[in-house]
This record gives sequence, C-alpha cells and structure tokens, in this order.
Amino acid sequence: MAAVRLIFLGAPGTGKGTQAARLSSRFGITAISSGDALRDEIERRTPLGQQVEEYVESGKLVPDDIITEVMLGVVGRIGPAFILDGFPRTVPQAEALEAGLATLKRPIHAVINFAMDSRDIIRRITNRRICSNCKKTYNLEFLPPKTPGICDACGGKLMQRADDEESVIATRLETYTKLTHPLIEYYAQRGLLREIDAAPPAEQVEAALVKIVAEMDAAA
Ligand code: AMP
Repeated sequence: MAAVRLIFLGAPGTGKGTQAARLSSRFGITAISSGDALRDEIERRTPLGQQVEEYVESGKLVPDDIITEVMLGVVGRIGPAFILDGFPRTVPQAEALEAGLATLKRPIHAVINFAMDSRDIIRRITNRRICSNCKKTYNLEFLPPKTPGICDACGGKLMQRADDEESVIATRLETYTKLTHPLIEYYAQRGLLREIDAAPPAEQVEAALVKIVAEMDAAA
C-alpha cells in the first residue's frame, strides 16, 4: 500500500473518478468521491439525501458546512492513505479540510490538478454513462462497455446522471470556474500542486499518476 494522501482537483468530466478508482485498486488507497457519497444518500432517501438532492440535480454546490461535515466524518473513519475526489471544491472547504487533517496529523501530500480544455470536458460529460448498480463509469467514446447499455463488471443497466444532461453542464462548469478554480492557486501557494494533462486516454493518464505516487511514496 502506498501511504499517500492526495486530492484530485479538476472540472467535472476530467476523469478524476476513473483515475481514483484505478489508483485505489492498484495501490490499496481508499478513494472517496464526494459526489458518490451524496448520490448514495439521495438514492437511499436519507434526511441528508433529501436536503442535498435539489443542489446535486441542478448542478449547484451543496453548502460548504454540509459537505465539509460529511467528508471530514469519512476522513476521520478511514485509514491513513486516501484520495479525495471532488472535495474540496471551494476555498472555505479547503481551509476546513486543512484544519481537520492537521488535528488528525494527516496532512495532504499532493494535489493533482486534472487539466483539460472546456470543449473536451463537454464531450466527456455528455458521453459519460454510469452503472446503476455498481457505479462503474464508462464513456461511450473513450471507454465504451463491451455490450451497449450494460455494465461489463456486473451486468447492471447503464444510465446517464441527471446532472450530466446538457442543460445542467453549463451551470456546473460556471460553478467550477468561479468557486473551484481558485483552489489551484491556493494549493500552488502551499507547494502541493501537481498538474497532469487529463486529455489523453485513461491508461496514459494513469501511468502519469502512478509515477507521481511512486515518487511520493519513495520520499515518504
Ligand atoms: P461530482 O460527482 O463530483 O461531479 O459531484 C456531483 C454533485 O455533488 C456536484 O455538482 C454538487 O452538487 C455535489 N458535490 C460534490 N462534491 C461537492 C463539494 N465538495 N461541495 C459541494 N457540492 C459538492
């Protein structure tokens, strides 16, 4: 197991979730997706799920205090190596995470920014499909399932996320630019930022990430 703690930063659709899952199985690092955590609450109709449903489905960010409580709770329960995918997404969330991890004596080792231009992002999002059962992600263009509409891993039915529909994407990208993009500067100032080109095929992006993790693990 690689004893590293990473944040995956980047616009929606840049492959953070796909790569978090790949690194998680390769290195035995826990991958936590804030979006998956919220979608799970919504699907189970929990009080939290009902509170956040409208935000998630309309592509708006869930209030900082709610998501921070959820994610710090998860981080406090898991082992020392993890990848955070989709959290933090605002400067107040990053500040709260920094304080929470300082208390746990588990600072972040690196923040990986998934860089991609906006035309590619829109293409990726509109082609994204998710297994309704095991949540594995596909892309009709780049990572298609072997049988159309069916998950290779579990045979579940593939669906499009409500917030991946074209009408919601613009809101999500505007939110990213306004609230999440400033985190690049925030983490650069702390000497934690690493950038990768997220546009190449998943195998190539994975190889670049594996190199970064191996370097960090050797230095730890
Ligand atoms: P994702 O799967 O990461 O694209 O997240 C899907 C949706 O969940 C987002 O559009 C937000 O509504 C919500 N969400 C996920 N992570 C966060 C976060 N860190 N802060 C606020 N809202 C979030």
